[in-house]
Amino acid sequence: MAEQLGLALSNVKLRVSLRQQSIIDPLTQLYNRRYLDEVLKRELARSSRSGVPLSVLVLDLDHFKRINDTYGHEGGDAILRKVAQALRENIRSGDVACRMGGEEMIVLLPECDAENAVKRADALRLVIAAGDVLHNGQRIGATASIGVASYPAHGHNTQTLVHAADLALYEAKHEGRNCVRVAQASALLELGRQESVADNQEERGSS
Ligand code: GH3
Ligand code: MG
Ligand code: MG
Repeated sequence: MAEQLGLALSNVKLRVSLRQQSIIDPLTQLYNRRYLDEVLKRELARSSRSGVPLSVLVLDLDHFKRINDTYGHEGGDAILRKVAQALRENIRSGDVACRMGGEEMIVLLPECDAENAVKRADALRLVIAAGDVLHNGQRIGATASIGVASYPAHGHNTQTLVHAADLALYEAKHEGRNCVRVAQASALLELGRQESVADNQEERGSS
């Protein structure tokens, strides 16, 4: 009996650890893109039922190539881990921070409208800019640019929402980096068109 129970338990532990490995980025220990897709869909569905807004922050480190070129890939990796830690330590328990790949991260903020999301993005930006790591005797720092988009103001599905935040990020980069920009009404006209096309496709797909 005890033997059977032990076996069943180690089976469950193995499954939990495999599931963890499949949704966690090994370098930063943040969630990965796959998990974000899953949780963003779920949270959007929840928001559309409750009518409570949610926001996404798309964050990209500034001149990261230069950091790699100056301090080596190891130095760049140390920065990525440090930024990930800063995100983890400065978000709420219901928020989800993910590494999308390279030096781009997304933070999902459930129950947070655009106005509050901008404030929180700027607080994260300041924490990141203030942090540094000691690598081979040298202090390395980095800054981040952040694009903000919210449901329902800037998008109704995962693609349009992330795309709106991406455009805002592009603007932040264009305006000098180390700053936060929110999705703009001008971008929304174009997004609205895309969205109705996507919605139509979804409707056709489901009918
Ligand atoms: P920008 O401010 O416009 O974002 O400039 P950037 O240099 O950050 O942008 P770019 O996309 O040109 O460079 C991203 C760099 O990130 C290039 C790539 O070598 C580096 N990179 C991608 N993944 C990793 C990683 O896992 N570790 C390290 N150290 N570097 C990475
Ligand atoms: Mg970058
Ligand atoms: Mg990038």
